[in-house]
Amino acid sequence: MKTIDGNAVASKFRARLADEVALLRADGRDLALAVILVGDDPASAVYVRRKVEQATEVGIRSIERRLPTSLSEAELVQTIAELNADPAVTGILLQLPLPRHIDSGRILNLIHPDKDVDGFHPMNIGRLANGTGGIIPCTPLGCILLLETVVNDFRGKHAVVIGRSNIVGKPMSLLLLERGCTVVMTHSQTRSLPEIVREADIVIAAVGRPEMVRGDWIKPGAVVIDVGINRVERDGKRRLVGDVEFAGMAHADAVTPVPGGVGPMTIACLLANTVRAGKAMGPNAVAYGDFNFR
Ligand code: NDP
Repeated sequence: MKTIDGNAVASKFRARLADEVALLRADGRDLALAVILVGDDPASAVYVRRKVEQATEVGIRSIERRLPTSLSEAELVQTIAELNADPAVTGILLQLPLPRHIDSGRILNLIHPDKDVDGFHPMNIGRLANGTGGIIPCTPLGCILLLETVVNDFRGKHAVVIGRSNIVGKPMSLLLLERGCTVVMTHSQTRSLPEIVREADIVIAAVGRPEMVRGDWIKPGAVVIDVGINRVERDGKRRLVGDVEFAGMAHADAVTPVPGGVGPMTIACLLANTVRAGKAMGPNAVAYGDFNFR
């Protein structure tokens, strides 16, 4: 069984992005990612810091907007409108969760689809659904890139996606479908899940339940991508585990570990989306192209 090293793939990918950003700079084009953090949630602050650090590393300028929890929805709408209108801002990231008095769905829909580097805007989801490009949500994009390191030809493969969230499961299914897989989407109401998973050549687990996918659910030779991030207590220590029982995967062809699998790719794909959005804007705009990640 091969362990797919997300840190190594992400690092190689960031190096390529840095080259691309340098070429854009030489062409007089500056990329700027606006990062909005509302409130003082410590986990969100850590995520934002990591994103800003990695953006800086590849040469993307960050514009941080740290806003108080007391901010009104109208004020946040105004901030988004300003960033949408600012030609110097090529990408906008709104760190979730937002304080409860703010309707995140409404606010996310106000980010201009061409600057929506998270790929959550209905326009981008629609573009993905009808196969006309657009910005792809970062986590499923990262999963596809990891899959592409071990799967040569997706056509006709049986893929089972566990989880149907708007940010992972649904876009993941669309990406696999686009590549010619036969996709089964499963969720909490699915009956006989282990039997369904046993048919799969590719398994994507995006559930949020520690080690739910057991070794005996996996067909020999399958590729398993574990999106889950679960904090558990083991032997008196706090640990991160995925949705997949990693120790039971010896007969799989390849598996992503947790941590060090999908996680690092998610941020790298945020940077890739920022580069892609920036390239598609301005006087020397380049059309959205397919990534070639090999
Ligand atoms: P959601 O909670 O939004 O969705 C979970 C999905 O799992 C739902 O569709 C739910 O079904 C399904 N589900 C729950 N229980 C079962 C079950 N027993 N059997 C089958 N399906 C089940 O989570 P997300 O999609 O946002 O995230 C999933 C996991 O991925 C989490 O652990 C999260 O932390 C992690 N994550 C990791 C990222 C990374 O960068 N590595 C990024 C994003 C998420 P139903 O719809 O019926 O309720």
